[in-house]
Amino acid sequence: MAPMETRAYINGKWVAGQGGQFPVINPATGEQVAMVTDCTQKDVQTAIDAASVAFKSWKKTTVKERSTIMLKIRDLLLQDKRRHELATLLTTEMGKVKNEAFGEVGFAASFLEWFAEESRRQYGETVPVPAASKRFITVKQPAGVAAMITPWNFPIGMIGRKVGAALAAGCTCVLKPAEDTPLIALAFAKLCEEAGVPPGVVNVVPCSRERVQEVGAVLCDSPKIQVLSFTGSTAVGQWLYSRCGNTVKKLSLELGGDAPFIVFPSADLNKTITGAMGAKFRNSGQTCVTANRYFVHESIHDDFVNRFANQMEKELKLGNGLEPGVTQGPLINQKQHARCAELVKEAVSAGAKIVYVGKSIPGPLFYPPTLLTGVTPDNPIARNEIFGPVISVIKFKTEEEVVELANDTDRGLAGYFYSEDNSQIWRVAEAMEVGMVGVNEPFVSTCEVPFGGVKLSGLGKEGSLHGLDEYTHLKLICFGI
Ligand code: ADP
Repeated sequence: MAPMETRAYINGKWVAGQGGQFPVINPATGEQVAMVTDCTQKDVQTAIDAASVAFKSWKKTTVKERSTIMLKIRDLLLQDKRRHELATLLTTEMGKVKNEAFGEVGFAASFLEWFAEESRRQYGETVPVPAASKRFITVKQPAGVAAMITPWNFPIGMIGRKVGAALAAGCTCVLKPAEDTPLIALAFAKLCEEAGVPPGVVNVVPCSRERVQEVGAVLCDSPKIQVLSFTGSTAVGQWLYSRCGNTVKKLSLELGGDAPFIVFPSADLNKTITGAMGAKFRNSGQTCVTANRYFVHESIHDDFVNRFANQMEKELKLGNGLEPGVTQGPLINQKQHARCAELVKEAVSAGAKIVYVGKSIPGPLFYPPTLLTGVTPDNPIARNEIFGPVISVIKFKTEEEVVELANDTDRGLAGYFYSEDNSQIWRVAEAMEVGMVGVNEPFVSTCEVPFGGVKLSGLGKEGSLHGLDEYTHLKLICFGI
């Protein structure tokens, strides 16, 4: 592994925060990976001030200048040796398997590239006038300083997606990474420095869990910050949303999901099993678009369950994500592990049956892949986001019934279904109350398309041509002639 940066990156300098240090733990081994600087409110304020000063000049750079620097960051991320080093660091602090970590570094790079290209197409409009004495144009302008709070489950992917959009728009950034995964964020800052991002344009301020609320409060309350972009749990997103009311910021919230995965009788079962595996086991089930509830038509239920259990046995191997052949790493921390175990326990008491459990291995954070059937829609496991490698299967009879069940949730991020019936595909895709639908496809997220949910799953879109809107203001210029 390459040498690690453990200090904060503020105004182009590597500095020790004033709150001491906090440990980063490898979830596969329990070993301490590093002690990382713990930023206080004062440190974060210094970063906000720096980003605010840097904004004055960064906003004036041309899109060509910005995109050149962004493509340099992309190139650095994709240099093979570095990409491997970053992936190893990511696996070490977060636990996901190395090839997924390697993929995630590429995913981050794809946003730098996409937004570097998109920035050159931030067109305004000329607008037809209602009076002969006027002329109208609109222009898109950078919104200002953007605060970013990122999660541990895609600790560099989400940074690429947010920082990429912000830089392209002409915004400067103050980024607070998740306390479980600050090292990859600091490694990203190092690449920004190397690529020639000017001081103050990207600032990274890690802090411990104990300090996160006070740091979050500074980010919400600061009048110097115009945008807050958050990816994480719904509860924290709701708190940030209300806290930002005083300063009326632009808010982008990517919150929890509760994705349904529906298997209709016409589904191609081979394709469905592959899709069902993909929709659950990436990152050991720890993604907000992970399928949370599997609804399977009664006519194919038993066949589906048998084949799914066989596939799990064949494909999944639990272990340290740095070891070859391992497909399932540990869960991120004790809280997530306990939550997963508790949900399975509650599910069984509410009548669910465990039909498959993968081989356990020693270590407090490894959770064996588990398949449950006989889950009813009101079982706690069908009402909560599992965020772990547990499948819960619910039987259904009709399309109408299953669409209603799928939508009977306060979240709406992603939803998946498998069907070969063309009119059903249109009906169900349109009826699902989610931001993203996968039809016969479990992987819906790339830099080209919008990512975001409805209901309590959030606000705004990331990625795609719409992703820049979060970081720009549309200004009208009216000419009297
Ligand atoms: P999880 O429970 O999966 O860790 P969180 O929503 O708590 O999800 O974490 C996502 C991000 O939000 C992390 O960077 C975390 O530090 C941050 N966070 C948690 N609580 C707050 C808060 N009160 N204010 C600001 N950020 C917070």
